[in-house]
Amino acid sequence: MRVVIVGGGPGGYEAALVAADLGAEVTVVNDEGLGGACVLWDCVPSKTLLTSAQAFNTLETAPSLGVHFEGMAGLEVPRYEVDLPTIMHRVRDLALAQSEDIGKRVSAAGVRVVLGRGRVVGPHAVEVRHLAGDGGGVERLEGDAILLATGSDPRRMDTAPTDGEVILSSQDVYKLREVPEHLVVVGAGATGAEYATAFLRFGAQVTFVVSRDRILPTEDRDAALVVEDVFERRGLRTVKNARAAKVERIGDRGVVHLEDGRTIEGSHVLLTIGQVAQTSGLGLEELGIRTDKVGAVIVDGVSRTSVPSIYAAGDVTAKQMLASVAAMQGRIAMYHLLGQAVAPLRWDAVAATIFTDPQIATVGLSEQRAAETGIQVEVDTLPLAGNPRAKMSNRLDGFVKLLARPGSGTIAGGAVVAGYASDLIAPISEACANRLTASQLAQAFQIYPSFAGSIQECARRLAVRVQGSYRY
Ligand SMILES: Cc1cc2nc3c(=O)[nH]c(=O)nc-3n(C[C@H](O)[C@H](O)[C@H](O)COP(=O)(O)OP(=O)(O)OC[C@H]3O[C@@H](n4cnc5c(N)ncnc54)[C@H](O)[C@@H]3O)c2cc1C
Repeated sequence: MRVVIVGGGPGGYEAALVAADLGAEVTVVNDEGLGGACVLWDCVPSKTLLTSAQAFNTLETAPSLGVHFEGMAGLEVPRYEVDLPTIMHRVRDLALAQSEDIGKRVSAAGVRVVLGRGRVVGPHAVEVRHLAGDGGGVERLEGDAILLATGSDPRRMDTAPTDGEVILSSQDVYKLREVPEHLVVVGAGATGAEYATAFLRFGAQVTFVVSRDRILPTEDRDAALVVEDVFERRGLRTVKNARAAKVERIGDRGVVHLEDGRTIEGSHVLLTIGQVAQTSGLGLEELGIRTDKVGAVIVDGVSRTSVPSIYAAGDVTAKQMLASVAAMQGRIAMYHLLGQAVAPLRWDAVAATIFTDPQIATVGLSEQRAAETGIQVEVDTLPLAGNPRAKMSNRLDGFVKLLARPGSGTIAGGAVVAGYASDLIAPISEACANRLTASQLAQAFQIYPSFAGSIQECARRLAVRVQGSYRY
């Protein structure tokens, strides 16, 4: 079986590894390094940047733990210097190294990688325009099946043209060589909140322009409010119920004009207003591949498009724009294509994290969604403030929240707000995936003292309420 994959991000390269493992002859067409935008521009760079910002947690809590650095003892705000060029070099080096590692794994699996831009020209054919590194020219690749995994691009506004210097897209951030004096972030989703977290820690004045009455409007409300509170304590200004109509550069400053006539000026403006599926020039219309009203490719639970030999995975389907979802869709597509037993993707068990400080990690059903759809759930929330590990670390902001179905006690979802919520969500994610009950989650050992202990305690409380006891 021959498979042609267009796009080398997590949707594409994970599919390539599975298909090669199952004996297919696989070619990946990609227009940049393997790992795609995920590794080169989005997930890996932003999380590396945030790792530098996390160094401030140590600085911030050290004095209260009885550790003083020379010259800093007694200072409420420690003096520090942020070396942004070094941070940005580290970000770039790490992204390139990660891309190279993926390239080696994919090549070792016997996959052919072609550097070029692909266009689907038939149900079984992709035309590749080679990029300079591969000698130029055009090549036609034939496959029994094709996987589209072309990802997404930052959403743009005609009235807010980015210039890469003062008015920035999320990918322009890495060109900065000095910490902005005043960064105005337009767009209150995960990406905006993560960059706001980093630059606030680096010492920038940060203003967050949000169109609703709170930041992270699609997230668990309690979780968003914790992060909003921490942001405000650290000096971030939030302008709420504010829609940007236009952004312009005036001299070396950026000005955001709001729909209600107000203006906000900063040294830099960062636009984080979402992502759009990357389908331009792919040849979808000619082939009759169905797209939705925002132009994303429509797929079923096993990643099939409306054309039987063509699958799609990742952001190009705009189902849930996450690297883990892209990878899962890509793997499922190949299992299905290559005749393996496969279950459709479980949208009710997807886990996600927003890497603010504290982080917000969620999985499965949210309280908000349960209320909107009328799904009956029992909810228990346990603040971290009582957790011994949180007290020792002086990191008390956050909570664990669990949702269980009444009667059965099956865990339907959860949220964790904590320093390393991205790791702490794992047991709740496993409970959702395997339909464990609150009492089963409560009976699994957790370490004492640990943040995870709060998950166990929360599960115990919920099991007693829903199942009558946590012992069965
Ligand atoms: C700032 C930011 C931070 C993020 N952080 C996280 C995170 O921490 N965790 C998480 O799970 N998700 C995160 N995401 C989302 C995540 O990056 C995406 O969901 C993920 O990259 C999707 O993978 P993909 O394989 O669909 O596409 P991509 O990673 O975008 O890869 C697609 C590749 O295909 C290439 N391509 C496009 N068209 C063609 C063509 N015609 N021919 C050849 N190649 C083509 C593209 O250039 C790209 O290299 C973040 C997103 C942003 C914007």
